[in-house]
Amino acid sequence: MRLLLVEDDPTISEPLVDGLRREGFEVELATTGAAALSADPVDLVLLDLGLPDLEGRVVCQELRAASSVPIIVVTARGDEIDRVVLLELGADDYVVKPFGFRELVARIRAVLRRVSPNGEPTRDRLDVGRLTIDLRSRAVSFDGHPVALTPKEFDLLVRLASDAGAVTTREQLMREVWDENWWGSTKTLDVHVASLRRKLSPDVIETVRSVGYRYVDSP
Ligand code: CA
Repeated sequence: MRLLLVEDDPTISEPLVDGLRREGFEVELATTGAAALSADPVDLVLLDLGLPDLEGRVVCQELRAASSVPIIVVTARGDEIDRVVLLELGADDYVVKPFGFRELVARIRAVLRRVSPNGEPTRDRLDVGRLTIDLRSRAVSFDGHPVALTPKEFDLLVRLASDAGAVTTREQLMREVWDENWWGSTKTLDVHVASLRRKLSPDVIETVRSVGYRYVDSP
C-alpha cells in the first residue's frame, strides 16, 4: 500500500513516515499543496490542512476531482473544522492533532478496508461475522434475523463494526456518532451500547476499560 503524506512540518512528518514504514506502508512525502497535486497515484492520501502554499481544503477538493483516492484529513486542534464540509470536499475521514499513532493507523486501515481493489468505495454493505448491515436501506440482521435499531444505535453499530477488532475511544464515538463538539456526559453512549448488546448478542461489543469499545465477532 502506497501512502502520500502531505505535511510541511518535519517534526510531525519525520516520525510519521518512519512509523508508517514500520507498519509496512510505502510512504511518499509532499511538503506543499502543489507537490501533493503533482504526486504519482497512491492508495491513500493523508492531508494536513495547514499547508504553506495552498489552502488545504482546495488541495482536498482538487485531489478528489482528479481521482477517487481515499483521503484522510489532518487538522490542527482549534481549526474551524466542520465534518460535513470535509466530507463534502471529498475527505473520507479526519484526525485532529495531536493524534495517537495507533489511532491514525487504525483509521488508515479502516478507510482502506472500505475501498475495493478497483478504487471505488463499496459502502453499501458491511459484513462482520454474524452481522450484516445494508448501509443504503439501513437494514441490520444478526445471525440471519432482522434487528430493529434506533438511528443512533444504527450509527454507533456502523462505526464500531466498520472497524471491527480495533478499539474506538469513547471520545471518538461521541464525536463521530453524536456531535464533534460533545464535551458532556458519555452516559448516553453506554446506554446505546447496552441496548445494542441486548438486541444483538452480549459479547459482540467489548468494553476496553477506561478507553472505549471494540466490536468483536468471528464467523
Ligand atoms: Ca502544517
